Amino acid sequence: MESLNAQIVPSTVFFADAMLGRLARWLRMLGYDTAYEKDISDESLISRVVTEHRWLLTRDRYLAQRKVLRDHHTLIVSDHLQNQLRQLQSELRLDLDLSDKTASRCAACNSILKSIPHEKATSTVPAYVASLHRQFVQCSNCGRIYWPGTHWTHMLARLQELRTS
Ligand SMILES: [Zn+2]
Repeated sequence: MESLNAQIVPSTVFFADAMLGRLARWLRMLGYDTAYEKDISDESLISRVVTEHRWLLTRDRYLAQRKVLRDHHTLIVSDHLQNQLRQLQSELRLDLDLSDKTASRCAACNSILKSIPHEKATSTVPAYVASLHRQFVQCSNCGRIYWPGTHWTHMLARLQELRTS
């Protein structure tokens, strides 16, 4: 069945509501620009969605019914991350493939990640991490450093499951 959302979604720039923090972090790691604020009033949220041309991801049925958000949201039906990703994959045709690229946005603050030289990472990350990994990326905003460690491996496995199930 063809979803209506699949035809009208303007872009893959998202705003995840307060109940979707975990989904927001995953979307960022997948490279999708995803705004998220834990404490935000409905009015501020709506204003940001509209002015920043973001696609709202929400668990809130009442919020989704607001006229101004009509055709600008996906009502997420499940509380479980796996199902939430599956819903976006089928309705918005989101590409959940992380295997051929490094994460491009910071899971914590949504800013762009840039590759950094190994020498630069070694002064910050634990020694065993520096010795195990060659590839590091750093957030241009908050300075967090990421590497393809256990978190990414775990993510890849979960995404692989999603694609094949
Ligand atoms: Zn950051």
